[in-house]
Amino acid sequence: MKNRSRVEELADRLTAGKALTREEYAYLIDHRTPELTHQLAKAAVAVRERIYGRSVFIRGLIEISNYCKNDCFYCGIRCSNDHCDRYRLTPEEVLRCAKEGYELGFRTFVLQGGEDTFLTDDKLCALIRDLKKQFGDCAVTLSLGERSRKSYQRLFDAGADRYLLRHETADPAHYRKLHPETMSPENRMRCLRDLKEIGFQTGCGIMVGSPYQTSSELAEDLAFIRSFRPDMCGIGPFIPHRDTPFGNETPGTAELTCFLLSMIRLIHPAVLLPSTTALATIDPGGREKGLLSGANVVMPNLSPKEIRGKYELYDHKLHEGEESAQGFRALSEKIRSLGLEPAVDRGDIRKEE
Ligand code: SAH
Repeated sequence: MKNRSRVEELADRLTAGKALTREEYAYLIDHRTPELTHQLAKAAVAVRERIYGRSVFIRGLIEISNYCKNDCFYCGIRCSNDHCDRYRLTPEEVLRCAKEGYELGFRTFVLQGGEDTFLTDDKLCALIRDLKKQFGDCAVTLSLGERSRKSYQRLFDAGADRYLLRHETADPAHYRKLHPETMSPENRMRCLRDLKEIGFQTGCGIMVGSPYQTSSELAEDLAFIRSFRPDMCGIGPFIPHRDTPFGNETPGTAELTCFLLSMIRLIHPAVLLPSTTALATIDPGGREKGLLSGANVVMPNLSPKEIRGKYELYDHKLHEGEESAQGFRALSEKIRSLGLEPAVDRGDIRKEE
């Protein structure tokens, strides 16, 4: 009874928009029940509706390269994976993908890739300018990993609007367990601060259920999100990839991912929150469950069909059906069946909270 009332008290404070301590966030995560999950999801959906109405924003994801100089222990395109069949799209191919998306009504393109040293500032800036020239009413989002401040500034000056860089974990010791020594939590955070200061709409995020993660690391992530106030936040379950050091680890769950989506919506009401491909991969109803938990963004895949299977961050990553631009009609139907509406504008963050 005593425990039950503490959960209720914390849930009330969370839904009222109050800050909780790390210990309190962890307590809620550890003591969650189906009833609490339902209560927070309902509150999160109400908050989303207050700020964004019924809109779900669509982002066309273009996976521009799977070359990567990094060796993250969880990721299927890490440089040590010799089984990864590497590819890189030409600027013409990227523009063709964008055109296909534009015709479907997409007004944001997300260029994502490994940390490919071939993709210099000059090449990327030229591509961003071409995209902006051809699709002037669209937002360009980049998700190309860690770069120097100077490089981020050049990409911004060339016209890029947003940058996604998941922080992966806000706990430095945990970060070191997921990455080789050549990467540091300090540099990851430096990148995020630079991106925000430069003026990008900036996204952070985590994998749910990554190895060594407990509620205490998740509480640290929630506190970080509360103080950093990102414009976007990408979270999805960790899913092992067979050719990585974490190939035999346990995957994260849709259940905890959805619980955290609701918490994040309540902690930072205006954040743009995708219902991710990883969530749809781990659970056949994941896409809907994410939206019903407070997410308001979906990111169908616009990459050319032939290469889609090669951008394999984790095993069995979905890339057909509703994940693909071609399946967009079915995805739109699904969104409408939830009482929501696929939006055809850029879908920038609304500042009012
Ligand atoms: N190189 C870019 C893009 C990385 S891929 C960058 O560093 O930001 C985008 C995201 O996929 C990563 O940030 C990571 O959180 C997620 N990811 C990678 N491997 C994964 C796995 N095995 N399971 C689930 N998500 C994974």
